[in-house]
Amino acid sequence: MWKGDNASHWAIRSWARRLLKDKKGTCETCRLKPAFDLASKSGEHKRDLTDWFYLCRTCHMNYDGRMDNIRKWGKKLQEKNLKKRPTIVQLKKRLWELCKQIVRARDMGICQACGAKGLVGVNAQTSHLIPSSICGGLLRYDVERNLYLCCYNCNINLGGNLAELYRNVLIKSGQMFVDNLYMDKNKSIQLDRIFLENKIELYKKLLK
Ligand SMILES: [Zn+2]
Ligand SMILES: [Zn+2]
Repeated sequence: MWKGDNASHWAIRSWARRLLKDKKGTCETCRLKPAFDLASKSGEHKRDLTDWFYLCRTCHMNYDGRMDNIRKWGKKLQEKNLKKRPTIVQLKKRLWELCKQIVRARDMGICQACGAKGLVGVNAQTSHLIPSSICGGLLRYDVERNLYLCCYNCNINLGGNLAELYRNVLIKSGQMFVDNLYMDKNKSIQLDRIFLENKIELYKKLLK
């Protein structure tokens, strides 16, 4: 174990350094690197020349335990960072919040199914054209194609009022847009950390 340096250690090391300066050369452990560190074999800094040998910095730190401490510290830091990472559930929640913000900004308070205006608060709902219960992961957070602002009545009471919503999207965006959307209906993708984090970054940029 590394005992740290104090004044008497320092004095004894200087004494040993003076007497052993001719031995200074290549590291006595790895025999590769030049050695500048005079290390105490016992860790007790004895006033005894056989207790001292020359090591390179790496071997010295390995020998006296400092390297172990650094590794342990690094591991602790890594564990701490891992704990700080948001869970998949939290990422999905964050992504959904961004979807809602984008939809609200884009559809400007107008129900995309029935055309009701001035939607705010609980009356401003974010609705899937292809419902999330039947679409694969790809369309669940596809704000550009599958998410629309709907009033409470359309979304909750009329189950999305999908016939009207579909018709309006078709009029606004065209047949090809709708065909492409329906082609992706069953595409399932892994809603993993990488997908969610990338999508979050992308949508954050959209909101700027
Ligand atoms: Zn060495
Ligand atoms: Zn409506």
